[in-house]
This record gives sequence, structure tokens and C-alpha cells, in this order.
Amino acid sequence: MPDDPLLDIRNVRKVYGGPDGLVALNDFSLQIPRDEPQIVTIAGESGSGKSTLANLVLGFTKPTSGQIVFDGMDVGRLSSREMAQYHRKVQAVFQDPFGSYNPFYRVSHVFDMVIKNFKLADTKAQAREMMEEGLNAVGLKGSDVLRKYPHQLSGGQRQRIMMARAYMVKPKLIVADEPVSMVDASLRASILDVMMKLRDEGGISFLYVTHDLSTAYQIGDKIVLFYQGTLAEEGNVTDVITNPKHPYVQLLIDSVPQADPTRRWQGEIELPAEEELRTARATGCRFVPRCPHAAEVCKAALPPLHPVGAPGHRASCTLYGPERAAAE
Ligand code: ADP
Ligand code: MG
Repeated sequence: MPDDPLLDIRNVRKVYGGPDGLVALNDFSLQIPRDEPQIVTIAGESGSGKSTLANLVLGFTKPTSGQIVFDGMDVGRLSSREMAQYHRKVQAVFQDPFGSYNPFYRVSHVFDMVIKNFKLADTKAQAREMMEEGLNAVGLKGSDVLRKYPHQLSGGQRQRIMMARAYMVKPKLIVADEPVSMVDASLRASILDVMMKLRDEGGISFLYVTHDLSTAYQIGDKIVLFYQGTLAEEGNVTDVITNPKHPYVQLLIDSVPQADPTRRWQGEIELPAEEELRTARATGCRFVPRCPHAAEVCKAALPPLHPVGAPGHRASCTLYGPERAAAE
């Protein structure tokens, strides 16, 4: 149905290890519309559940409860044959792209494999044309790059090649899990430009996973901030960054050196790493131990997402809902 979202994540929960297990992702919902390609940034500190979400959307792991529907397909229930078709529509770009490739293979081999795998071309000439088009789309020159070996490429070139590889399949969605974390700041900016170009010219949506808020700001569109497997705050990235509402997000943004919306942030903003207990039996807001506004009511149940101003801007915090006033 054309009115359906392209991606519809419905109350997805992922628990590792039984009833006392670890809640990697807690009751998460997200929609990406079909008619309007978007880059949705998933941000949060290490261990907050970002890769769990990416792996769920890619079908690499199944939800404990809830459902992920893509283009009418229930991603948690695909046969292996359907999964192969699914991966024509949803591609992955990971960190350390050449980690899994043989160092003796040239770049062209990486592309040959994807062309064979997805039967993208009938002839050698067609395959060659497709490779060059893919590389051009990410700002690389085909003839130069295709003959090279991984060690002859910069980190930025490797990332672009992986983006080109995903793009060649002509997917509707690319899940990019920390695709820029191993390259330096100026190269990060350029791969993000590539993503925006593929969004605008290729009509491709992205789930862009990052622990680096400065790059999130560059992209615009929507941002979702995780804290320990729970959604703390979501909204348009400009609204969230300039007017954060969740006390955790406020803490993060306060530690950002340059919060002027007209300027890019300087330097790197790494979220603090912290692992706290979060078993499946835990109730209430996960941020209570660190929160300056914590009250008894915050421990009773995880606060729902309350609207906090601009359209779509919502925070999971009792400060913005009736439950706190009712308890006081
Ligand atoms: P992030 O990508 O934000 O760093 P992850 O989604 O990788 O976070 O991990 C979220 C939590 O789930 C972490 O505490 C991690 O240790 C745990 N986790 C991830 N994958 C597994 C797994 N396969 N088995 C058990 N625990 C896991
Ligand atoms: Mg991760």
C-alpha cells in the first residue's frame, strides 16, 4: 500500500539471555515514510543498543517481541530466499569495511562479488559500466580505483567504496553502522555529503548509526537518541540539538563546545561510555541514578514519549507529562 511507511518498526524489544537478561533495546518504534527519503540518525553512547537496532533491521537477529515491517514484509519472519530479496532493498555499510575481505583482492573483486551475488549485470561491459557509475556516485574515478588493493586506499576511499557497493544494488534503505568512525573529521564530512547526495539524487533512505553528535548535526533530518536501550529523545535534529529536553540529552549537549546552529561543531563529541545494570526486570527511567530532576515517580515505569514543542520532538521524561504532577 502506497500510504504505508517504507520502514515500520513497531514496539520492538530485544532481550539477550532470558527473563533476567539484558535489555539491549526496549519497546522501540520508528517509521520512515515511503515518499520522502530520509537520513535517520541513531545516536547514543557505546552499549546503548544502536547496533542491536541495525542488526534487527537488517534481519541478522530477531526481535524478542514487536515487529519490523519493510515494504509490507515482516523482517523477523523471512525465509532465506525472501531474506536474499530483502537485501536487494536494504543494504548494509559497516565499520572497518575491508576487514572481511582478502587483502589480495582488488577493489574490482569486491564489486564483482556483489554483481554476481545479486545478478545485477548480464555482460562484462554492463558490469564495468555499473561499477563506474557506482564509484562516480560517491565521487571516485572508476578506472583509477578499481585496480587497487585495499592497502593502497585511504580510510575515506574505503568507506566510499563500501557506500558505492551498497548503492549498486539500488536499495531503498542503507543501514550504515558507524560508517565514519575510523576516518578523520574532514573525511567524515565528505562521506556524509555522499549520503546526502544518495538521499537526494538516488532516493535512498538511511539509518545512520553514530556515537558522534557533531556528524549527526551535519545531516539534518531526524535524530533518535538512545540511553541504555531506551529512546530518550527524538525529533528534528536542529530542534533536539538547539533545544534538548531530556536531562540526559541536555547533559550531552551542554558538554558540546559549539552549539550555534549556524556553525558546525568543532572537534569531536564522544558520548561518555557507561555501562549500568539494565535487566529485563528493571523498571523506570534508566537515567534516574544520574538525573538532577529524578523523582519517585520516575522509578515506577519508563516514562512515555511526551511532546515537547516542535512537531515530532518528544522526550521520555516525566518533566513533560501529567504523571509527575499527579504524583506530587
Ligand atoms: P551499541 O552499538 O550502541 O554500542 P549494542 O547494540 O552493540 O550497542 O549493544 C547493546 C547491549 O547489548 C550491550 O550491553 C551489549 O553488550 C549487549 N549485546 C549486544 N549483542 C549481544 C549478544 N549477541 N549477546 C548478548 N549481549 C549482547
Ligand atoms: Mg555498535
